[in-house]
Amino acid sequence: KDLFPLRYLLRLERFAEPFQKLLTIAAQAAAERGWHLYLVGGAVRDLLLADPSEPVALSDIDLVVDGFHQAATVGAGVELARSLQTLYPQARLEIHGKFQTAALLWHNDTELDSLWIDIATARTEFYPYPAANPEVEASSIRQDLYRRDFTVNALALRLTNPRSSELLDFFGGVLDLRSRQIRVLHANSFIEDPTRIYRAVRFAVRLGFVLEPQTEGYIRHAIDSGVYEQRDRIVPALQTRLKSELKYILQAPYWRAAIRKLADLDALTCIHPMLKLDAALWRQMRLADWLQRCDMTIPHWQILLEVLIAKIDDRANVAQALQLPADAIKRLANLAEIERQLEQLPHCEKTSQMVQLLKLFSSETLILVAVRSSRTIRRLIWTYFSRWSLVKAPIDGTDLKALGYKPGKQFKQMLDDLLAATLDGEISDRAQAEAFLHKRYPLT
Ligand code: ATP
Repeated sequence: KDLFPLRYLLRLERFAEPFQKLLTIAAQAAAERGWHLYLVGGAVRDLLLADPSEPVALSDIDLVVDGFHQAATVGAGVELARSLQTLYPQARLEIHGKFQTAALLWHNDTELDSLWIDIATARTEFYPYPAANPEVEASSIRQDLYRRDFTVNALALRLTNPRSSELLDFFGGVLDLRSRQIRVLHANSFIEDPTRIYRAVRFAVRLGFVLEPQTEGYIRHAIDSGVYEQRDRIVPALQTRLKSELKYILQAPYWRAAIRKLADLDALTCIHPMLKLDAALWRQMRLADWLQRCDMTIPHWQILLEVLIAKIDDRANVAQALQLPADAIKRLANLAEIERQLEQLPHCEKTSQMVQLLKLFSSETLILVAVRSSRTIRRLIWTYFSRWSLVKAPIDGTDLKALGYKPGKQFKQMLDDLLAATLDGEISDRAQAEAFLHKRYPLT
């Protein structure tokens, strides 16, 4: 890749045609209003890393508007987004927050597919105390880049003239891309925002980079300082961001490497001060990853996260703080009681009794219990998923009617009895099922 000069790598023509056109139109609209427009963040990083022989597609674009000689007005980003929406009426416009950032969203568009553009006015952020919500004010593009997480994410490509296609690299991002390192911009970064620890690991593992040694030192220092242990100071907005970083990591193919690195940094303590990845927990996560295939409708990341949280005594509060769905919070809150009930499984005499007990619980609950329980219980739950839950009685409701039974309340009981007898191996074909019925429910 280094054989290609930066100027070549940064050409807008490398983007697929519809994206090029969109960026050109956005730049014109900004220039007409006397603003500069920059492509920033991941899109620039990915443009420099992408295979130079392939057109680059975009799914997520960050644009920043800055004034020519002084900071643009706060509403500049929104104004630009509105003007773009008149040209692209199929895009949905969303305006967020006090410091007005705008998003334009395309869904299954024929040309732009599912594209998300964030447009903001250049701004700077202050953290009034660690892990707080940042306070924000208008600023120059340089300061906007300085509030970002890592050098490789703090690159900007100017889209407007003069000097369009110029790369703004104030912090050595290109060097770090070349030496494949994730380097933070300032020493306090992880104290201000612990989600950056998760982001650092995510980018390092995903891009095959390493954490630059001093950056890793800052992470360890932030964690050792105990700043995240004052959980009452960790604001809800930060918990939401922490959850989305966890989701991002746990649903990625590289989740194992990322979790191991986070554990090595002791960063799971950002979820709860007592959370450590010991051998037992690691085994549970790998088992959950495997067992989740029993029911592909369950969100994979959520099961893995629940397994992590289940390890903590205060699990219900942690699940609540991370704003997991209500059923997950309930499951984690009642986990000890659920586990007590399922401990009865090996004591059931018949398969049908086990199935009756297992049916009381969702697949998510059973997976969570299975990974945490003894091998005997785990095997029974696995057999339920792979065999017993698929068993059908040889006769269904329509057959009952054809046999002369009158539809009514009793039908359910009859069908339950038939299924139980099938599970217990008492009947295996239609003739045996009919004989079973005639004996237990004689036709008058
Ligand atoms: P991805 O390809 O994973 O989407 P991305 O770099 O586009 O990567 P986003 O989460 O979309 O990541 O964030 C966009 C940009 O916003 C980042 O490149 C970074 O500059 C900045 N950013 C995001 N989160 C933070 C944070 N917690 N602290 C500082 N800057 C951040």
